[in-house]
This record gives sequence, structure tokens and C-alpha cells, in this order.
Amino acid sequence: MAAPDPQGGGVRGLTPVASFDERHAEIREGVRALCAEFPAAYFRGVDERRGYPEEFVAALTRAGWLAALVPQEYGGSGLGLSEASVIMEEINRCGGNAGACHGQMYNMGTLLRHGSQAQKREYLPRIARGELRLQSMGVTEPTAGTDTTSISTFAERKGERYVVNGQKVWISRVQHSDLMILLARTTPLAQVKRKSEGLSIFLVDLRSAVGHGLEVKPIANMVNHETNELFFSNLEIPAANLIGEEGQGFRYILDGLNAERALIAAECIGDGYWFVDKVTKYAKERIVFGRPIGQNQGVQFPIAEAYIAVEAANLMRFRACELFDAGQPCGAEANMAKHLAARASWQAGEACLQFHGGYGFAAEYDVERKFRETRLYQVAPISSNLILAYIAEHVLGLPRSF
Ligand SMILES: Cc1cc2nc3c(=O)[nH]c(=O)nc-3n(C[C@H](O)[C@H](O)[C@H](O)COP(=O)(O)OP(=O)(O)OC[C@H]3O[C@@H](n4cnc5c(N)ncnc54)[C@H](O)[C@@H]3O)c2cc1C
Repeated sequence: MAAPDPQGGGVRGLTPVASFDERHAEIREGVRALCAEFPAAYFRGVDERRGYPEEFVAALTRAGWLAALVPQEYGGSGLGLSEASVIMEEINRCGGNAGACHGQMYNMGTLLRHGSQAQKREYLPRIARGELRLQSMGVTEPTAGTDTTSISTFAERKGERYVVNGQKVWISRVQHSDLMILLARTTPLAQVKRKSEGLSIFLVDLRSAVGHGLEVKPIANMVNHETNELFFSNLEIPAANLIGEEGQGFRYILDGLNAERALIAAECIGDGYWFVDKVTKYAKERIVFGRPIGQNQGVQFPIAEAYIAVEAANLMRFRACELFDAGQPCGAEANMAKHLAARASWQAGEACLQFHGGYGFAAEYDVERKFRETRLYQVAPISSNLILAYIAEHVLGLPRSF
């Protein structure tokens, strides 16, 4: 019997991962070169002072990486989601945290798909150049939680303006954005046939809004993630800043989720590989009882399990990206990729922390920081349970539970 092919055969209907690696080699090299200027110690320092990696984000922007998904006609590089996901993966794989700036890559997709020609011409080239940051998306509310259609922030049309009142929570990167996409009700819940109707999205210019109807309160949190409570008190938004049709906002937000899911899956995969590499190296070097700890199968197996999980998530991530880039439905694959990747990176993080023993808890090893950072993705931007509910109901056709 022939020995198995060590490279693994291509799976029918899927592009083998090896060829993805070749196709993306240039991107990986470019991002790695940039990240080499911002080693793990840089991110550790930012984490310690609870700061924002401004220099890193500025360098990524200058190099054009955050404009990967902006079409060339608007000054971006017009790359596909696969390529964009590789950029995010590499940042996390190098020890960084793409969560500080991933919104700039995907939030503009809502404007691109549903904005007017005038809005796209006005904003996209400046977003592509990094002159404007559109890093924030305001959806979650304290009382609605995951039940997005029950949000109560209301935008009332008054002539050529909308006047917004309400509250949001957990809205990220507001302090490092010029613009934010805001989801608000424009028709009261009691007056719509379906809960998903009567919601609209707006482009909020944070530079003029903050202090003039919008108050921002930072939330101290487990990860060094810039996130905030927002209070709207008669904030005026020009009617021209409505994106798409009034009342269709929920659908527009859903349209952007697949790209977000796939990109965040890629970040988790980057984390997963970082943890596996880190713990493998450590397990080869750390001598206890006169031999490397990695010689014990009790240490080997959890690392091997985690590696298998990361590899499997990686396949699903490229499957989702491939479908997205071909303009095909990919809701199931994007959600499954995000779910698998978030779990795999956590599994890898758990093994990495465990087998570093006490040293895993020391900040200078970066393990505890990455462990905290990757844990977020089982809750945000969508919790694991809600992905399972999506698969159960929309893919398997099980009865709706909510
Ligand atoms: C650091 C951070 C950054 C964030 N950034 C943003 C942002 O930029 N913009 C934004 O709009 N939001 C953001 N969020 C919010 C995030 O999307 C929500 O926290 C997340 O969707 C969960 O909502 P919730 O916190 O209200 O939890 P809840 O809806 O209160 O749910 C709590 C738990 O109960 C579970 N649950 C609820 N209902 C069900 C059900 N029917 N079946 C099974 N389980 C259920 C959930 O899975 C969850 O685990 C961020 C959150 C964090 C922590």
C-alpha cells in the first residue's frame, strides 16, 4: 500500500490550500515585512498602556493594505476577499491585532454596495487614501443585545435633516474614526409589518457629531479594544447622509456580514497559527524531568488537536472567500468559517497557555495578551450560539427558535 501523499491531494471543487499559499505569497511577504517593523513587543507596549496602535495603523494605511477591498476606480487596490483575508491573517500571525483597524477594510463595503454615486465619489477615494477613517459601525444597543431588530435608537426626519435620539453600546474604534455607519429605526416598531422593516443606515460624521448631540464614553474591557457607549441626544444628520433607501437598513447591514465573518475568521486563523508555532517551539526547548516537555504525548496531543482544528477552519475560510469573490451565496460558509476559526484559535490559545506553564501568564511572552484578544471572537461580532442558530435554521431547516 502506497504511503499517503505528504502534500495532501486537492479536495474536489476546492482550490487546494497549497495553491492559495502560492497565489498569496507576495501579499504575505509584504504584510510580514511591514509587521516586522511592529514586533510583538510593540503590541505588548500598546496593550500595557491601553493605547491604540496608531503608528502601525498609519503604516498599514500608507502601504495601502487597508484599501484592499476598495475598487480601483475609487483608488483602492480592488483585491478579492481571499486576498484581504490574508492581510488580516498575517497581522495576527505576526503577533499583532488586526482588530484595531479591521473595520476600515470592511465597513466601506456598505457604502460601496448601497451608497449613492455622489456618496461613493465623495467618500471612497478619501477612505482608500486613508484621509478618512470609516472604522466604526454602530448597531448594538444595551436593551436589544443580539435581537437587532428591536433596537430603539430613532432617527426622525425633519426637513433636510434626521434627528437622532437613543443609545448604543460596544461601538468600537469611534475615537479613531472620522465616520461611522449608524443603524437606527426610522419607523416605529409598532408601525411595521415585519420587525426587520423600518430600520435605516446613515453615515455619521463623527468629527462634527461628537460634542454636538453625540457623547462617547469609553468602556474599559478585558481586551485592549477601543470600544464605547454612545449617547445620542438630538444629533442632527443631513438627510443626504442616509445610505440607500429609508427602511432597508437591516438588509444592508446583513449584506456586509459575510465579508466581516470571513475576515475575522482569518484573524482567528492567524492567531491559531501564532499559538501553535509559539507552543511548538517552546515545547521543544523547555526541559523538565530531563527531557523536552514536547516529548510527552500529554503535551503533544492537545497541540496537534489544535493544529488540526486551525487547518480545517482555514479550508472553510478559503471556501467562503472563494464563493464571495465569485459573487455566489456564502452565508453558510462564512458563518461556519468564523465559528470554526474562533473555536480553533481558542483551542490553540488554551494549549499555548497551558504548556507555557507559569510563563504563559507573564506579559513578556505575549501569550496571555493573544489569549485575551482571540477570546473575544466567540462573542463578537456575533456570538457562537447565534451562528449555530443560523446554521440550524437557515441551512438545516429546523424550526425557528426566535
Ligand atoms: C469588545 C467588543 C467590541 C464590539 N464592537 C462592536 C461594534 O463595533 N459595533 C457593534 O454594533 N457591536 C459591537 N459589539 C457588540 C457585539 O456584537 C455583541 O456583544 C454581541 O453581538 C452579543 O450581544 P450582547 O452583548 O448584547 O449579548 P446578548 O444578546 O445579551 O447575549 C448574551 C449571551 O446569550 C446568548 N444568547 C442570546 N440569545 C440567545 C438565543 N436565542 N439562543 C442562544 N443563545 C442566546 C448569546 O449567544 C450570548 O452568549 C462589540 C462587543 C465587544 C465585547
